[in-house]
Amino acid sequence: MVRKGVLLVLSGPSGSGKGTLVKEYTKKHDDVFVSVSATTRSPREGEVHGVNYFFLTVEEFKGKIEENGFLEYAQFCDNFYGTPRESVEKKLNEGMDVILEIDVQGALQVKKNCPDAVLVFTLPPSYEVLRERLIGRGTESMEVVEKRLSAATDEIKCAEKYDYVIVNDKIEDAARELGAIFSASKCKLENNIDFIKEF
Ligand code: 5GP
Repeated sequence: MVRKGVLLVLSGPSGSGKGTLVKEYTKKHDDVFVSVSATTRSPREGEVHGVNYFFLTVEEFKGKIEENGFLEYAQFCDNFYGTPRESVEKKLNEGMDVILEIDVQGALQVKKNCPDAVLVFTLPPSYEVLRERLIGRGTESMEVVEKRLSAATDEIKCAEKYDYVIVNDKIEDAARELGAIFSASKCKLENNIDFIKEF
């Protein structure tokens, strides 16, 4: 019997280190599928189509919405972002765990449509660290940094709707905590009902 994979949704303000956390975790775990989102934002230096994102025009993105091609989608700081439905559903049905690194609006849509999804919120150790990380990254103009900081304040208000919180200070500790959340989710009764019945 193939047990369905765990759908883990990771959110947190830009600069909370979600991307770094996923990279650190997948270094040691190759049995997890990290969904590649679609976006209408322009690629940053070094970003590759199909690896970091599927970079779409607004028309292409809207076409995919019409085809019901997204598990969820949202507008964040003037751009659209969405999770391609097909690849995620296929991996989960094959028994593979899936990570979605998405914003809070998308995460809450996922929870509504897939109540078994596990929602994890990442936070940097303090607001000052968040600000320093965003400015230090140097990938955005000061205007965009300010917009993202303001979005962060709104996002953090939604943290209470999540199942778990990871304070991302030391990356190895954060990755270990993410692994512990995966393990606990797999052992939840709801994820083992079919196995118990068959047994
Ligand atoms: P960035 O432009 O920094 O890559 O991403 C901006 C925000 O959009 C981040 O919070 C990121 O997690 C979120 N995001 C990335 N992909 C998706 C997606 O497919 N759906 C939603 N709702 N948010 C996404």
